[in-house]
Amino acid sequence: MDKLQKLQKLVIASNNAGKIAEINALLAPLAIQALSQSVFNVTEIDEPHLTFVENALAKARHASRCTKLPALADDSGICVAALNGAPGVHSARYAGEPKSDERNNQKLIEALKKQTNRNAYYYCVIVLVRHADDPQPIIVDGSWQGEIIDEQRGQGGFGYDPHFLLPELGKTSAELTAEQKNSMSHRGQALAQLVEILRAGKF
Ligand code: IMP
Repeated sequence: MDKLQKLQKLVIASNNAGKIAEINALLAPLAIQALSQSVFNVTEIDEPHLTFVENALAKARHASRCTKLPALADDSGICVAALNGAPGVHSARYAGEPKSDERNNQKLIEALKKQTNRNAYYYCVIVLVRHADDPQPIIVDGSWQGEIIDEQRGQGGFGYDPHFLLPELGKTSAELTAEQKNSMSHRGQALAQLVEILRAGKF
């Protein structure tokens, strides 16, 4: 419990409002004040690495170095079976700069035009560093299986959600409430593990 009380404030190494809202909702029961890095004018850094975990670590260390606070970063993306796992770590900028969900979605549907295998999964890794040079970051992850559909459905979520169908629910992830999405998503699964670790005072 003593250890847990030390973590009262952290910075989220993201400027993505959708992600920050999801992370805050899941951390709320722990009474941890989680602030976006934009509050501290921390700029986004490049994500040049080939793995999600390396990109998340780079983002967390950068935010922690700039703010002198513990920092949480997630790196996530969608991996499509018929595209050999693409767009993967490149999901945010799949259609190039500047980042655009609309153009990313168009490119994905175009790439899958002749594909009958529509299996895909979201993947998320979350890293929490106590300080910029933390040699033992907390690392958790989660994945969420679905299928890509051509037409957009739903107004919720962000990114690829309007095209990400959950066959067992008959809904896209954009048709779920924020609570429903958080209870099953890749990010929700990873955060649930993180919450358990923090509750156990292992930070
Ligand atoms: P990054 O983790 O900020 O590098 O970017 C992750 C990218 O993956 C987002 O910009 C979205 O395009 C996609 N992505 C990750 N998680 C989700 C999700 O929950 N819904 C929709 N798209 C997502």
